[in-house]
Amino acid sequence: PRRILWFRRDLRINDHPALLAAGENHDVVGLFVLDPTLLRDAGGPRTVFLLRCLAALDAAIGGKLLVITGDPVVVVPAVAAAVAADEVHISADYMPYGRKRDDRVRDALATSGVALVATGSPYAVAPGRVRKPDGSNYSVFTPYFGGWTEHGYRGPAGSGSGIVWADIDGVFDPAGFPDRVLPADLLEHQLSGVPNANLSTVAELPVAGEAAAAATWKEFLAGPITDYHDDRNRPDHEGTSRLSPYLKWGCIHPRTLLADVKGLPGTGPASYRREIAWREFFADLVFHKPESLKWSLNPIIDDLPWDTGTVADQHFEAWKQGRTGFPYIDAAMRQLLTQGWMHNRLRMSVGSFLVKDLHLRWQLGAAHFMDYLVDGDIASNNQGWLWVAGGGPQASPFFRIFHPITQGLKFDPDGDYVRKFVPELADIPGAMIHTPWDLPGGPPNGYPMPIIDHQAEREETLRRWAARPPKP
Ligand code: FAD
Repeated sequence: PRRILWFRRDLRINDHPALLAAGENHDVVGLFVLDPTLLRDAGGPRTVFLLRCLAALDAAIGGKLLVITGDPVVVVPAVAAAVAADEVHISADYMPYGRKRDDRVRDALATSGVALVATGSPYAVAPGRVRKPDGSNYSVFTPYFGGWTEHGYRGPAGSGSGIVWADIDGVFDPAGFPDRVLPADLLEHQLSGVPNANLSTVAELPVAGEAAAAATWKEFLAGPITDYHDDRNRPDHEGTSRLSPYLKWGCIHPRTLLADVKGLPGTGPASYRREIAWREFFADLVFHKPESLKWSLNPIIDDLPWDTGTVADQHFEAWKQGRTGFPYIDAAMRQLLTQGWMHNRLRMSVGSFLVKDLHLRWQLGAAHFMDYLVDGDIASNNQGWLWVAGGGPQASPFFRIFHPITQGLKFDPDGDYVRKFVPELADIPGAMIHTPWDLPGGPPNGYPMPIIDHQAEREETLRRWAARPPKP
């Protein structure tokens, strides 16, 4: 008897409840479906990282992963029929597209008597579980965190090394699946239609796969986690875990992380646990308010007058390319282009700059982030942007405006972060790198002058806010 484990955001074999459920007394066929609808919005760095994770997973299960391009509603039932599987197992998806897709796949499988069985999810506590005593959901983090802690979560699910991966040679007829991607081709898989798939621009992606995730975590646990509480605010230090791309694709599960930090003394492990809870909180918010993926929950934000036209387009382009003339902002935007990643403090600063210095809609910034982030996660990204723009359900006010220079002086005091990503300024010593226009000859090597005056634009933002339409 065979069962299918349809992998999605769970590209690992350890601490994998759905895999253990599938493999109980059954041989397991591992399947991944490259869904063109999702690939269209995935961005090059994330897609390449995904393909590399799939190659690593394939190697880990003895070269037996089936990868097929197509609509899962068609592909999953076809594979189930081809390998004579009686159940298809998944880790539940709680995002709006995934929920609808899974309902459709469930219905399609049911017509031939095959069950879709969900066990576990990408979260320690699944979205929708943590509720106020009256049954409603939390919209503010601190009380959610209290509820999440009280709710508790299971420990890791143990090793999947005993799973028997089905030998499907002679059973599965590849001729029926022309869109099958062979493991050897995975890394060269055509990324047609995927934005920013030109990888010459993204040179520095992390090593993909479960083993790399475990190694990254082990290294963080052996040292940096102790000072994480303070170091996580310093983009010039390697102070954070850099696990976000692995969490995105489930190469490691938060359960594993939470179990490892449990009982560790000090503020570092406690802060780390809290950050993991932020990820769960944002997924919970999207579960309850899927419309927040497109719009501010506070409609006044979307109704404010936002800039459009030629100058706005030029500003947006300068922001995307890291040529605003503000070194701290530009370093971050270039880190995004070259590494597909950006430090959390900078995500907040460049977001504030786009929305409150350039007066551009947060949705533009969120879409650019999703095109480039290797950890791009629709819930964390959009809720992060809502937080920056003051359009979320929380009390983070619109009139909180990050200063693009003093933030740099505070969190990158010697300029090491800027120096790393803005080579034109690399010879400027110390903190002076944050204000290159003050140098006698102005900014060197063709680095631009600031494209806006922060003080003036700050006042303009506050003026637009004061003139906002009254609450309906
Ligand atoms: P660490 O500091 O080591 O944190 C460990 C883990 O905790 C992270 O991997 C992440 O899963 C979670 N976490 C930490 N901070 C946050 C946070 N503020 N919100 C949610 N989860 C958090 N994170 C994404 O994973 N994907 C995104 O697309 C994304 N977009 C963002 C957009 C904006 C505008 C902002 C302000 C934040 C965004 N974040 C996003 C959150 C955060 O910036 C990243 O999770 C973090 O920088 C990843 O680096 P790390 O793994 O080294 O983090």
